[in-house]
Amino acid sequence: MTSVSPQPTRKYDLSFARWVYENVDGGDRMALCMQCGTCSGSCPMRTEMDHGPRKLFMMIRAGMKEEVLTSNTIWNCVSCFNCVVRCPRKVPVTYILHDLATVAVREGYAPAKDEAANRFSRAFIWSTKMFGRTDERLVSLGYFFSYGFGAGLKKILAFQGITLGFLKAKRLHFGLPHSIKNKSELKSILAKAAEIEARGHGSSSGEK
Ligand code: SF4
Ligand code: SF4
Repeated sequence: MTSVSPQPTRKYDLSFARWVYENVDGGDRMALCMQCGTCSGSCPMRTEMDHGPRKLFMMIRAGMKEEVLTSNTIWNCVSCFNCVVRCPRKVPVTYILHDLATVAVREGYAPAKDEAANRFSRAFIWSTKMFGRTDERLVSLGYFFSYGFGAGLKKILAFQGITLGFLKAKRLHFGLPHSIKNKSELKSILAKAAEIEARGHGSSSGEK
């Protein structure tokens, strides 16, 4: 005897793809994606994502808004840009994923910030101030050891598979951190930004 499957009732939001094309950073080029899979095959974070970028883009076209905006793919992209340099249609995959993360927070599909994000931000800002750019190795180490020495070592071991993936994809460099020229100019810009921010906080709280 054959069993009868229940009637599907789930409806997908087919306007979602058009909305992404028109409103998400790089979305207009996403319309050119030909589903070749080069991005997913090149992504060193692929094993940490519930869907690779290629599949996520197909899900957008299929109107699976909720699944897309709750996917960990949009959070686990680390901006190595391997997908972008290899995409035959020049789809800015990285920007699309990051902007979708912003949409997810704005629409309540994800919390604005969690503890891990705060720790990572601090390591990221430290590297930016120090070198004028992010050094992926030092940012990762700063993040890992922000949990303490022992916990940091454990995290390094837990992430060794990912690290190997980055080495294979040539997205980790050896040698001293790259640094920008004229760091003094960067310092002045950051000092000015901090001053403007402090002024903003002061006026919004009615202190000034
Ligand atoms: S590499 Fe480019 S064209 Fe190929 S699936 Fe990824 S985004 Fe689409
Ligand atoms: S930028 Fe790097 S981590 Fe992000 S999707 Fe592309 S290949 Fe993966």
